[in-house]
Amino acid sequence: MILDIIKIGDPNWYRLRAKNTDVKIENPFLQQLIADMFETLDKYGGVGLAAPQVGHNLNLFVIKTPNFKEAFINPEIRLSGLQTQKPEGCLSFPNMTMPVDRLEKVEIKYINKDWQIKFAKFDDLLSTIIQHEYDHLKGKLIID
Ligand code: ZN
Repeated sequence: MILDIIKIGDPNWYRLRAKNTDVKIENPFLQQLIADMFETLDKYGGVGLAAPQVGHNLNLFVIKTPNFKEAFINPEIRLSGLQTQKPEGCLSFPNMTMPVDRLEKVEIKYINKDWQIKFAKFDDLLSTIIQHEYDHLKGKLIID
């Protein structure tokens, strides 16, 4: 099912600023939400989507690029490397990009959709996408 993405000016905008909580247990709702978030990403042509953007204040985001697809549940990150600044877009801010400061590398601990604990390291584009989506879980947006 394609989900509505909360965009700037939406009455549910507060969801993007609200506190997000960890997913406690694997459950059918979670599996459906993840599938719906991927379907929504495909529909809108984005590379990442965080649960609060579709009205669920959970620590969850999904990423899909031409050669990478993963759901990140309850992620924790550590950043390193040099600072870079590149323009970023966001499905909650259609037709808008903003320059955002990022560090080059990210290490991430998370639970995947099969409820396995994972550790991974990313750089370049995936690092940037992960930092962008992680910011959503902290209520931080590209306009901040
Ligand atoms: Zn975004």
